[in-house]
Formats: sequence, C-alpha cells, structure tokens
Amino acid sequence: MKIYNTMTRKKEEFVPIEENKVGIYVCGPTVYDYIHIGNARPMIVFDTLRRYLLYKGYDVNYVSNFTDVDDKIIRRALEEGVPSSDISERFIREVKKDMQELNVMEATVHPKATEEIPDMIEMIRTLIDKGFAYEVNGTVYFRTRSFPGYGKLSGKNIDDLEAGHRSIQVAGEQEKEDALDFVLWKPKKEGEPCWPSPWGEGRPGWHLECSVMSRKYIGNIIDIHAGGEDLIFPHHENEIAQSEAANGVEFARYWMHNGFLRIDGEKMSKSLGNFFTIREIGEKYPLQVIRFFILSAHYRSPLNFSDQLVESAKSSLERILNAMGRLSDLLAKAEDRELDQKEQELSSRVQEYVNRFEQAMEDDLNTADAISVIFEMVKLANTGLKETSAKAVISEVYEKIGKLCDILGIQTEVKEELLDDKIEALIAERQAARKAKDFARADEIRNQLAAEGILLEDTREGVKWKRK
Ligand code: AMP
Ligand code: ZN
Repeated sequence: MKIYNTMTRKKEEFVPIEENKVGIYVCGPTVYDYIHIGNARPMIVFDTLRRYLLYKGYDVNYVSNFTDVDDKIIRRALEEGVPSSDISERFIREVKKDMQELNVMEATVHPKATEEIPDMIEMIRTLIDKGFAYEVNGTVYFRTRSFPGYGKLSGKNIDDLEAGHRSIQVAGEQEKEDALDFVLWKPKKEGEPCWPSPWGEGRPGWHLECSVMSRKYIGNIIDIHAGGEDLIFPHHENEIAQSEAANGVEFARYWMHNGFLRIDGEKMSKSLGNFFTIREIGEKYPLQVIRFFILSAHYRSPLNFSDQLVESAKSSLERILNAMGRLSDLLAKAEDRELDQKEQELSSRVQEYVNRFEQAMEDDLNTADAISVIFEMVKLANTGLKETSAKAVISEVYEKIGKLCDILGIQTEVKEELLDDKIEALIAERQAARKAKDFARADEIRNQLAAEGILLEDTREGVKWKRK
C-alpha cells in the first residue's frame, strides 16, 4: 500500500516495522464539548485505514487518546461549578456514543492523559537529564533549539519561526531561555486540577501527552501517526522533538494528515453560526450518511459540507442499500444451479471490481475511487441479475458488495426494522433503569435504539421517539 507521508512529502510504499503488525496513533479530541463534524473526519478516515489494514490481514494496534486535562475543560468546569473530571468523563461518554453511531471501532486503547501522569513526569526527567529541557519557577520548558531536526515535518525554518515569535511574545514568557521553547509541565493555578511532581504541583503540557501515550501503548517507534492537518505545526512538530530527544530514535515512520472540512466554503466557527455537532447532524441524517459523505472525498482534499452535498450523499448511499435489498430478495427466491456462461462472465467481472477497489485503497487510501468502483458493481447487479439468475452468482455479488462496504465501515445488511412494540418496551425498560439509577443500562438501551435509527427525546410529556 502507498501512503502519502507528510514528512517526506511523497507517496511511499508502506512497510511496517514488524511484519504483519501495525501500530497507529491518532491524536484524539479534547473532551470539553460534543464533537463537531470536522472532528469526525479524522475519526472516520483513520478508522477506514484501520479496517482496510485488517482486511489485508494486519494485526492493528490502534491507539487514540482523550485529552482530558486542558484549559477549555477547566473553563467549562468552572462555569458549571463541577470538578473538571465531571466534564471530561461526561464528554468521553458522549464522544464514544457518536463514534459508535459513526461506526468507528473502539481503539485498541483509548488512553487518557490524566491516567498517565507518572510516565509524563518520567519523560520530562529524561529530557532534563539529557539537556533538552529546563525548569524555571515550576514550569518546565523544552529547549527547542537543542533539537536539531526541529521543523522537519512542517518544513518550517527555525530562524523564521524565531522572528515571528519574538514579535508576538506574550506576558509571562520572559522567563523562557528562548521564545521558541514550549511547555512540558505547567505549575498549578488556583482551582485547577494538579498532580505532584519534582517541579511542584502542576499539570502536563498538551504535546507531551501524545509522546508519552504513544510510547507506552505502541513503542518508541510508531508505524503511522495521524491527525488533522492543523496538528502538523506545532503539535506534531513538538511531539517529534520531545520523543526523538528522549528516545534517541525516529518517532514515527509515516505521517498522515487529513484535510479540513469547511461549511458552505467557510471555516467552521461558533461566531459565524455555522458550527455543527455530530449530535445535531444525527437529528437530520443517519450518521452512516455522514460517514459515506466524508469518505466520498479523498482524505487529503479539503471537503466542503453543505445540506445539498449531504443530500446527494444520502441518495447515493440509498442506491447501494436498495440494490443490496433487491439482491437479498432475489437470493431468497433464487435457483440453486450451475452458472451459465453469462453468469460466469459476470462473476469474473465482480472479481475485477474487487481488484480495482483494492488498487484504489492501495493508492493512499483513495476512498473516493473505491466508492465509484462499488457503484459500478451496483450497476452490474441492477442490470445483470434477475429472478432467474443462479443463486451462487447473486450471493457472490451480494457478499462482495457487502464486504467492500464493510471495509469502508458502511453497513449494508438489510436489517429487520424494530417493531413499535419492541421500541416502546425498550423505552419503558430505560425509564425503569433510570429510576433505579442504573444509568449504564439506560445508556445501553439508548445506544441500542440509536444503532437501529431510533431517536429518543426526553420531553415534559415523557419520552418521545422517532425513526431517522
Ligand atoms: P481537537 O479536539 O481540536 O484537537 O481536534 C480533534 C481532531 O479533529 C484533530 O485531529 C483535528 O485536526 C481534527 N479537526 C478539527 N477540526 C477539523 C476540521 N474542520 N476538519 C477536519 N479535521 C478537523
Ligand atoms: Zn497528539
């Protein structure tokens, strides 16, 4: 498989460190709110990479963190008058629900920054011992200029950065040896969560978290490190500096970055009023449509989100699902007999399509081309298969389309709809569970219903439900 490596700016053949094994680290969200549609892009894209590597027979160790200590979390906790762990735990739960609806597999490990503090302290200590970091008044800084490769991922020149930084230096930074130095450990402020350390009570810097968690759960060298393109600088550049300085070996072999998602051609922002959470979008569309929409573009291209484009993704996906529904009906009635010559030809064309799908995926995860191959298969199924077709050929086409969709995380099984009675019984059970303060069971039922496309709304008159 070829992967475009941000580090070398080239498509390169992917060669894992250890045969048949892949360690992938994807920078995860800061959990202070519901995730928005832009955050869903890396989740879906790199989940698809994982599914494709699994299809190829790799053993994939997929690690994605939750940043659960951060200024934004602390600010929200102060606003709501609750401990900051309440905010992070609440939104980790909510992010996991969204991921489930987007059919994003749970990571092999989802480490949380607050649970890895001792290892962070240890890495800082190593960096200080090796002369790459220093402490001033309870803050530990990374000595950026001491790391010779600084700027290699983003292609930035350290002297240009220095000039830019000097002009925007902010108050309190005078204590740094150099304007480019960044924080590894910051001292506590009143009312903030903190942990003891050799440099006083405080909390870790954001960049450090990923260096430490990737080393712990994958190793010194990661096969693929991924995230959105906004993370290239400074986040990933700083991760490289910390990890390579501490471990003395290359940090990641391949760097993959997804392009940004924009709304109606504009940057998404709360102030422009064009900011959508996955939860809000899930009220309007099954989230499978959003997954399909995101994969309809190449992951490195910018992607524009608009109602019109999502509507069109919705009808495209329906074309696939309808064809699968028809095949499933044909299958139930089909005749079990040998393939005739035309059917044999059709069967070999299906295999060619599978090869072409794989070629597209092998070419830097070109899901856009992979999806167009699925459409060709759908067309073939719609025109080439009928009531009198042999069971074996119908079943082959049905299974192959299903398998390829599954690699993209698109579910095509024709599921029986939950009957109204069953839904109402589950809702009643959920109410009882809530009354008994069994929130885990209540959440489980909500998720089960969500997976069936049933949305619940708690109103003053009781729980209302609708199908998406
Ligand atoms: P954050 O919580 O801001 O660190 O973001 C979590 C992930 O979402 C990171 O990989 C970001 O690069 C990615 N991300 C944030 N906004 C967008 C966007 N508009 N389009 C694509 N990816 C994004
Ligand atoms: Zn990171």
